[in-house]
Amino acid sequence: MATFKAIVIEKADKAQTVGLKDFDEKDLMDGDVTVAVEWSTLNYKDGLAITGKAPVVRRFPMIPGIDFAGTVESSSHPDWKPGDKVILNGWGTGETHLGAYAEKARVKGQWLVRLPAKMSPRDAMAVGTAGYTAMLAVMALERHGLKPGAGPVLVTGAAGGVGSVAVAILSKLGHQVTASTGRPGEAGYLKDLGASEIIDRAELSGAPKPLAKERWAAAIDSVGSTTLANVLSMTKYGGAVAACGLAGGMDLPSSVAPFILRAVSLLGIDSVQCPLKMRVAAWERLDSDLDRGKLEQLTSQIGLAEVTTAAGSILEGRVRGRIVVKIR
Ligand code: NDP
Repeated sequence: MATFKAIVIEKADKAQTVGLKDFDEKDLMDGDVTVAVEWSTLNYKDGLAITGKAPVVRRFPMIPGIDFAGTVESSSHPDWKPGDKVILNGWGTGETHLGAYAEKARVKGQWLVRLPAKMSPRDAMAVGTAGYTAMLAVMALERHGLKPGAGPVLVTGAAGGVGSVAVAILSKLGHQVTASTGRPGEAGYLKDLGASEIIDRAELSGAPKPLAKERWAAAIDSVGSTTLANVLSMTKYGGAVAACGLAGGMDLPSSVAPFILRAVSLLGIDSVQCPLKMRVAAWERLDSDLDRGKLEQLTSQIGLAEVTTAAGSILEGRVRGRIVVKIR
């Protein structure tokens, strides 16, 4: 019997249990590429899956973990051969398909992206799904026409994973970044990442007006709910807001006023089913447009055994930046 270490979520009598176990390789799901997983990361969705606070996991037992970087061990897929360095984000990994918090994963070759030549597997997971989503959001704003000099770009949930990477990318691209956070103690951290202005997230948590004073040319929002409604109402004429998260709630208590009176656009961002071409483009941009020193500044590291504790912390908004998980 060939086994490897994995975090496994099981469910019995509606109760979910999570533990670090020896997992039998023969129980891996179908796939044409087997990967030796080297690094993973902790995302907000992983927190939801491990704590069971939202129905992220759709089959049991499940190995959670929505993303990994590693080396191909074996492959019958034409694009991949043993030794290739790969990244995987989403596609149901850690939700419907056995995931990343394991020394080994078997997946579909079409889900994989080649690790950019100058990026280490650890850096790729320091970026992780949160950082790759931040880049998808930046690219969506650029497609809308955003250029440096257009005015402030707001980032909400700025001290979190998506937010921290978004601040670092936008500042490197020459944008003036306004960071919204509920953690005033992280103002220095956010300025080091490149924010020129810090606002208290309380400014975005009151009852939203249909239209408020115009403040930013664009925004990346990972909070949703009342925050997103306020962000929309304060976006300048013709601006755009990339919505990618729900850390504050899934609802959107807004009105059509920003859309029909200020020509504001709301751009949806999804990392899970995102087409391969856009993923490859996003990872190429991350290779060139994210300062590695800043990435290191916003990253902390844990081992597999610490993932379950960290899962609770991320849902409580206590994690700063990104956490990489050393798998082997
Ligand atoms: P983090 O927990 O790292 O960051 C979320 C941040 O949001 C927190 O750090 C906090 O920032 C802020 N926040 C948390 N709770 C509240 C609240 N109640 N009201 C206002 N602000 C709040 O998570 P991630 O950055 O990894 O993910 C952020 C969101 O993006 C999640 O909802 C996640 O599911 C989503 N996401 C979506 C993806 C997609 O494909 N669309 C992909 C990846 C993530 P601060 O302390 O600075 O205020």
